[in-house]
Amino acid sequence: MAKLYYESDADPGVIRGRKVAVLGYGSQGHAHALNLAESGVDVRVGLREGSSSKQKAEESGLQVVSLPDAAAEADLVMMLLPDTEQASVYRSDVAPNLKEGDALFFAHGFNIRFGQIVPPPGVDVAMVAPKGPGHLVRRTYTEGGGVPSLVAVAQDASGKAHDLALSYAQAIGATRAGVLDTTFEEETETDLFGEQVVLCGGLTSLVQAGFETLVGAGYQPESAYFECLHELKLIVDLMYEQGISGMRYSISDTAEYGDLTRGPQVIDDRVRSTMAKILDDIRSGAFAEEWITENRSGRKRFEELRAAGAAHPIEKVGAELRAMMPFISAGKQRVQDASGG
Ligand code: NAD
Ligand code: MG
Repeated sequence: MAKLYYESDADPGVIRGRKVAVLGYGSQGHAHALNLAESGVDVRVGLREGSSSKQKAEESGLQVVSLPDAAAEADLVMMLLPDTEQASVYRSDVAPNLKEGDALFFAHGFNIRFGQIVPPPGVDVAMVAPKGPGHLVRRTYTEGGGVPSLVAVAQDASGKAHDLALSYAQAIGATRAGVLDTTFEEETETDLFGEQVVLCGGLTSLVQAGFETLVGAGYQPESAYFECLHELKLIVDLMYEQGISGMRYSISDTAEYGDLTRGPQVIDDRVRSTMAKILDDIRSGAFAEEWITENRSGRKRFEELRAAGAAHPIEKVGAELRAMMPFISAGKQRVQDASGG
């Protein structure tokens, strides 16, 4: 078993002895900044000129300064900007203000793993990566819980970077749930693989293809929506709570037999070899290069694909059906609030 760290493994004094700058006030930024502040950490939020988040952060009692001032004042800078923006902000506002003995923190390893940010030698480089969206990092903390997180050290200039990362993880609530050691390589590669193959990419394509197959065969879109999308959450909740076998215990024997015999026909050897190819593209840097290029050239293809996804018939029937089940979207406003720019 891998080693997991809990409350008593971290020293809260370590992070309380630092001046922390959280750059960005989006999904992760607002959660880290508020949790750190409530854990007694000296924290300021660094935002660009004219940021619409300034007022929100100040109303929550946080000190807001410019990005370069935040980096200059702090001796620990947490980069919570979009991954595609970090390298340019690092070059213009962070690097000129990094001193020997400072620490540079990330919540995802992308920019270090793919060489977009190369910190100077005298600086600790570490990661505290919550395995959940920012609004849950905040909500679970206020409820006395936390979101499990990964910690990693890419550069240990002080010899104490791991203790610092653990202490930071504790201050955002993560040691209440469990903190696991990883490396920047493992975190980046597994995170990209997970979101491309299983969590986002594989899942959304599976749902759309199932919906299209049923609708194409003449069934009502409403039936197809309930079957292929709505019910998914109920099944995933069972897997989340009790594992795959626990979920299978709750479904009918007919469903379970269909699961056991048909699942491997859907996810066959061709799909598995595609998964391996996608992993190769992640590890070789081919995916990172493609995504960086897409951003530099104005995100045209990304916007086209996003628009096509939003125009899929499953979105229209889904919106109509969910409007009749307002209880489902009760938490929605909170998600939007938490991820504003
Ligand atoms: P986000 O998009 O929600 O927020 C980014 C923030 O940066 C916003 O305040 C935005 O206004 C600001 N910003 C955008 N461009 C900027 C620029 N050019 N200069 C200055 N500020 C700019 O981002 P996020 O989802 O919180 O991601 C932050 C980091 O956390 C990323 O490294 C991401 O991989 C990681 N992470 C995110 C999640 C998640 O659930 N969202 C989970 C784990 C790790
Ligand atoms: Mg992820």
